[in-house]
Amino acid sequence: NQTILTRSELAEIDKKHYLHPTTPPKLHYLQGPSTIFSEGKGVYLKDIEGKERIDGVSMLWNVNLGYGNEELAEAAKEQMLKLSYSSSFSGQSNEPAILLSQKVASLAPGDLNVCFFTSGGSESNDTAFKLARFYWKLKGKPERTKIISLEQSFHGVTVGATSATGIEGFQNFTTSNAPNFLKAEAHALEAELGDKNAPNYSRSIRGVIEAEGADTIAAVIVEPIQGAGGVRFPPEGYLQAVRKLCDEHGILMIADEVICGFGRTGKMFGVENYEVVPDFLCVAKGISSGYAHLGAVVMREHIREVFVKSDEMMFHGFTYSGHPMACAVGLKNLEIIERDQLVENSRIRGEELLRGLKFLESNFKHVTQVRGLGLLAGIELLKDPENGVPFDPTDHAAARYTEICMNLGLQLRSFDWKGTNTVALAPPLIITKKQVEDMINIMSDALIAFE
Ligand code: PLP
Repeated sequence: NQTILTRSELAEIDKKHYLHPTTPPKLHYLQGPSTIFSEGKGVYLKDIEGKERIDGVSMLWNVNLGYGNEELAEAAKEQMLKLSYSSSFSGQSNEPAILLSQKVASLAPGDLNVCFFTSGGSESNDTAFKLARFYWKLKGKPERTKIISLEQSFHGVTVGATSATGIEGFQNFTTSNAPNFLKAEAHALEAELGDKNAPNYSRSIRGVIEAEGADTIAAVIVEPIQGAGGVRFPPEGYLQAVRKLCDEHGILMIADEVICGFGRTGKMFGVENYEVVPDFLCVAKGISSGYAHLGAVVMREHIREVFVKSDEMMFHGFTYSGHPMACAVGLKNLEIIERDQLVENSRIRGEELLRGLKFLESNFKHVTQVRGLGLLAGIELLKDPENGVPFDPTDHAAARYTEICMNLGLQLRSFDWKGTNTVALAPPLIITKKQVEDMINIMSDALIAFE
């Protein structure tokens, strides 16, 4: 399937016929695609001009097994030839979906034992919101419909998921201001612990619950570590405090593990770092390492118990819920993660990555606030870290820096919003010690060019 078109021919077609996600249309129409990827193997990506780069962010934090994995390709091919598609509606099922539900249940903490399959993260979160509301309806409390989420959170782009998303830019053209989606300040630990004198108490989850009345709240959704919000870690004890708060008020807790799930943070799930078991755990990305469109909502036994006691069903499901090929790929992906001890690799390589980033912080003036857990890390770029002076917003410092990294052979992600200039790192879980060193060396060279 070798392409016979040149880069500029492809770029012309792209400009005319392809509207890209989260891409300024005018700029794209003028300039065409920034990169046209053509190949990937392991942690390396190649573009159509043959330039090779390390993927230091697993593309969209999802390609956890790296590119070109033959076992995953084989699993997909085998399943496509055996049974390419079957529906999961009206109780119909297929073997890969059944086995994947069992596998995910065995990996998920506590009694998170029941899976609803989706095609991705936004669908998982939307499904969790509906399941939470369905649960409350069956419990005789249909007025519990509100969903509380955090500022700077990212939960996806379907209407429900966007409504929960706390990053303002995403909130256009949706029901973001609907009364049943409420925002709370992120990581307001003291307030969540009950300290009424805490700053912004009224804006905390606890404050919002008190203002609205607990008996109107269906669920609280949190990312264990905020990803697109800027790789923001919660303060020590925060997730536990949210769990306790939910328990106090009988509110369901949803953990959005779309990034953290399946080894990213050095544990199988992000919540395990905080010893918390949510009522719903939403996954996608790492469940298939990006080889298939797959996601799931994993729920606890007490949720299922309520569902199975009733004669009612929820009208909800996607054509691709429990897609046999996607589930076969997911199953093989999880088998490889376990067999090759990639969660452990994430932990060990993550420690090396963090040490490397701290080295950059000590040696380069603009690098600050280095943080990381497993293979999920972030740094801030500040003009003058000592005096807390940020770069001018028009400088788009993080984007400028990642562009330099890109040219030197390393793909990263930048988030330049709300006066912060964050660079995110999340390399594939298969990365080696040497490749981590290569990443740091490129980042170091890029910092010399940046300064
Ligand atoms: N939740 C989180 C935490 C995410 O980071 C993302 C995507 O980046 C999503 C949900 C949405 O997932 P998807 O793009 O698969 O719909």
